[in-house]
Amino acid sequence: MQNYIKLGKNKLKLFNKVQTMLNGNFIPKTESKEFAFTKLIRCGYCGSGISADEKFKKLKDGGTNRHVYYFCTKARNIDCSNSPINEPSLINELAELMDKVNLDELEVRDRIENEIARFNKFRAGVLGYKQEKKAIDIDVRNYAKYLLKEGTIMEKRELLSCLQSKLFLKDRKITLE
Ligand SMILES: [Zn+2]
Repeated sequence: MQNYIKLGKNKLKLFNKVQTMLNGNFIPKTESKEFAFTKLIRCGYCGSGISADEKFKKLKDGGTNRHVYYFCTKARNIDCSNSPINEPSLINELAELMDKVNLDELEVRDRIENEIARFNKFRAGVLGYKQEKKAIDIDVRNYAKYLLKEGTIMEKRELLSCLQSKLFLKDRKITLE
């Protein structure tokens, strides 16, 4: 701290600026890891939250493969033996759930229907395609599945957070309560 006093005012300013920049570079970037399905699912054994992490595998061609998996945080039971699940399997589980879930549970249903209606208007206008009312339910389910697979992290989180029931992970299976 005594070094500051020896520096002139301008040098002191510069010194502080450099210090700030340097310190800025050393702030750990915790937000760089983003996972779609954390905090939305609970452990089916102990009720703890389900968290996620990533691993990188080196490929033979020199590239890397990102591998995301979800696991029980064991916050409520340090001995919890729930199995971890990789993200593709989790998405498959959630997609299957979209076939079973009561669509009225999905608060995003209205929005999804609007999206589909807009698309169907285009199909009807351009391709002369007409849709029966019954097919809309199927479309809503398919659209929800599409969001789970191809949507942004925000869209995936929004979809799941709109479910009225709680989601549980137990032995690599997702169940609703
Ligand atoms: Zn657990």
